[in-house]
Amino acid sequence: MTTISILGSTGSIGTQALSLVKLHPDRFQVTALTAHSNKDLLFEQVRAFRPQMAGLTQPIPESEIPEDLRFCRFVMGHDALRVAAAEIPADEVLVSVVGIAGLEGVMAALNAGRQVLLANKEALVTGGHLVTDAARRIGKPLLPVDSEHSAIFQCLQGAAPNKPRRILLTASGGPFRTWKREDIENATREQALKHPNWSMGAKITVDSASMFNKALEIMEVRWLFGMQPRDIQVVVHPQSIVHSAVEFDDGAVLAQLGVPDMRVPIQYAMAYPERLTTGCEPLDLFKVGTLTFEPGDPVRFPALRLAVECLEAGGAACTVLNGANEAANAAFLRGEIPFGGITRLVEAALDRLTGLPADTLADIYAADRMAREVVAERIGRL
Ligand code: NDP
Ligand code: MG
Repeated sequence: MTTISILGSTGSIGTQALSLVKLHPDRFQVTALTAHSNKDLLFEQVRAFRPQMAGLTQPIPESEIPEDLRFCRFVMGHDALRVAAAEIPADEVLVSVVGIAGLEGVMAALNAGRQVLLANKEALVTGGHLVTDAARRIGKPLLPVDSEHSAIFQCLQGAAPNKPRRILLTASGGPFRTWKREDIENATREQALKHPNWSMGAKITVDSASMFNKALEIMEVRWLFGMQPRDIQVVVHPQSIVHSAVEFDDGAVLAQLGVPDMRVPIQYAMAYPERLTTGCEPLDLFKVGTLTFEPGDPVRFPALRLAVECLEAGGAACTVLNGANEAANAAFLRGEIPFGGITRLVEAALDRLTGLPADTLADIYAADRMAREVVAERIGRL
């Protein structure tokens, strides 16, 4: 029996992870769950999975906790992530909160010696060196949940001592893959939220449309697999069947394929190194028929270029990109800026905030705050 705590249990990844716990009740037991604002779904999950602890980072009065859930310790507010990640014993901590909020949960879990299953990409993007150092210190690999990184991780099983010379990071291209630059600029919220292949939370769906998701994933590859940006090739693959590939010195390329269903990589991290059933459709290559590949376009999707520039700049550049993107993405979802404004606001923050350090968590949070301030200040002037 593996005990698991899930930070961000009410989200797209969190609920799919719980569906896997339900499918394998003899394999997994939930010890802690956290949500931000969706208290009703959290209550339902506590009722079904009976964890020792549940947390709401957006606090509610204790009187609102239903009588029948009093067996569970509820933690409200800021402390919820830390208690769930580090105080409640668990074999695994799945960090599936969205945004830089994940960094604190990841660090708390690692510092408590826990095995981390990492869905939250913003933690690596902003605190990659701190997160990977902490994982190295406790001798437990970070198990990636992001589908591309899970694919790369799977392709690297048994590869040691060979190191890949190149990573082929696939991307669906999102809903605007074939759109003209001017049309992308004015895309609506509804258009951006219509992902062709994956069903995900709103923030990452918008990031997929702008390709800031791929920018964050390039940074994840850098930290998870120690690759330099020049050795990471983005490959647009609209069918989302090849989830990424690795190339070795002899020219061999290993890829991982499957239907686009996040339950597969979530299960792989949860059961690693075993593989369990997921309930997802088997891949039918005859039905898919054709797999196509094209280069990413950094002119229509400047996020691809900005990712490489930020990695090369070092310091807090990736944190600034991430913070500005989180703030701009949220402003777009609130209807305050046009779609093209997201990229322009990120560029403005990167132009303004150069050379900031990212040595400590305090540096990272400061850079994140400054990036959000630049976005807030510029929104009205777009
Ligand atoms: P969702 O928006 O669906 O869910 C986010 C979860 O985080 C919810 O449980 C939410 O709580 C909680 N949350 C939101 N804000 C905060 C906060 N400030 N502090 C603590 N918790 C918070 O996101 P996804 O599940 O789509 O994504 C989660 C992470 O996984 C992201 O980093 C994303 O990039 C990554 N990822 C997701 C994939 C996907 O298929 N969805 C694929 C690959 C990576 P509540 O609902 O109660 O508000
Ligand atoms: Mg991904």
